[in-house]
Amino acid sequence: MSTPRVRFAPSPTGRLHIGNARTALLNALFARRTGGTFILRFDDTDVERSRPEYATAIEEDLAWLGIPPGLVVRQSERFSFYDEAADRLRSMGRLYACYETQEELEFRRRRQLARGLPPIYDRAALSLSDEDRRKLEADGRRPHWRFKLDHRTIEWQDMVRGASHVDCASLSDPVLVREDGTYLYTLPSVVDDIALAVSHVIRGEDHVTNTAVQIQLFEALGAAPPIFAHHNLLTTASGEGLSKRLGHLSLSSLRESGFEAAAVASLAVLVGSAESVRAVADLDQLAELVDFAHISRAPARFDEAELDQLNAHLVHEMPYSAVRDRLAALGIGGGEAFWMAVRSNLTKVADAVSWWKIIDGEITPEIEDPGFTKAAAQLLPPEPWNESTWKTWTEAVKRETGARGRALFMPLRRALTGLDHGPELAVLLPLIGLEKAKARLSGAAA
Ligand code: GLU
Repeated sequence: MSTPRVRFAPSPTGRLHIGNARTALLNALFARRTGGTFILRFDDTDVERSRPEYATAIEEDLAWLGIPPGLVVRQSERFSFYDEAADRLRSMGRLYACYETQEELEFRRRRQLARGLPPIYDRAALSLSDEDRRKLEADGRRPHWRFKLDHRTIEWQDMVRGASHVDCASLSDPVLVREDGTYLYTLPSVVDDIALAVSHVIRGEDHVTNTAVQIQLFEALGAAPPIFAHHNLLTTASGEGLSKRLGHLSLSSLRESGFEAAAVASLAVLVGSAESVRAVADLDQLAELVDFAHISRAPARFDEAELDQLNAHLVHEMPYSAVRDRLAALGIGGGEAFWMAVRSNLTKVADAVSWWKIIDGEITPEIEDPGFTKAAAQLLPPEPWNESTWKTWTEAVKRETGARGRALFMPLRRALTGLDHGPELAVLLPLIGLEKAKARLSGAAA
């Protein structure tokens, strides 16, 4: 059997949001797990709204998520194939010219509704004679083109939704080509799925009705339909739909606010699935957790607070080698010792900056009992220091002052860091160094 071929097909009319990432990841991870090909197809037939900079941004977002496509195609470069397919459908009598204006259609729709009839297109244009058409065109009317559906029930086995069916007699014949000759999404998508030998169409459940129409198009064009999987959609935490154009929860904004790609990917994939939502750092492992048959049918809520937790979890486990360059770019020194000391206090990698400032920058110490901290300052051992210095020193302070437990450690922490919580002082102390430690314990900003 040949390996699967899947495609993620965004229109480059905005930045990808977390819901788009879900679709992209479900495709890419399926390809990854099956040794298949992940295709990025830009649905950019709408030349007005599509922008090359959005296409570039989408490729960047996919690269950031760790799922660069194996192949990129642009519908704007493939119009001749759509023209050819449209001509074939015309010659078979499956694509017919219609001349109604929006107002006429709206009027008919209302009349049907008033009579208690379903508001579907009545196929009036099918009974136009050549003469009628000539007249309409002489009047300056340009045709749009509808696909003549077979009025039968289309069935498919959906990887998510199971046995699915749509009765096409309940649908209007869909418009495939507009008055100005431009294509709506429906036909180019099928033409490309055939040309690119797409084996599985994995997309949001907002496309379920399209699927019945598209299965008829595959058949009309002489191709076997692919397997379909329609996943549930993501909403915001408050239950609203996400919109690419409104820039809702865009991947770029999540990236800029410092979230790890793996945290975003884990949430995008696992929310609303049978798996508990957890941070999975490795995409191969995440791919193993995708189970189409158990994706929930209900919309899944995306909660940014949950993203914080997943991110923190990943950061707490991150080895120094994975962050070395990023820390350097943030101007953070202290090497592995610093990273290992602070990582469990962080939600995001960049939060390490504030801890580094405590080590490298100037802080105002918090001192309640100057006598105690001055005494402690006197007991600081000479450098060089290492991670056992803290223990040696605090034992000496304990002996000298009699302070112990919280009463011993908290005043030292407040004086040395200006805070009453934070990473282990045994690691921070050698990084702070004798000079700064002495000054801070004496109450000086240092
Ligand atoms: N451009 C379509 C969309 O973004 C693609 C749908 C599909 O995957 O077929 O909704």
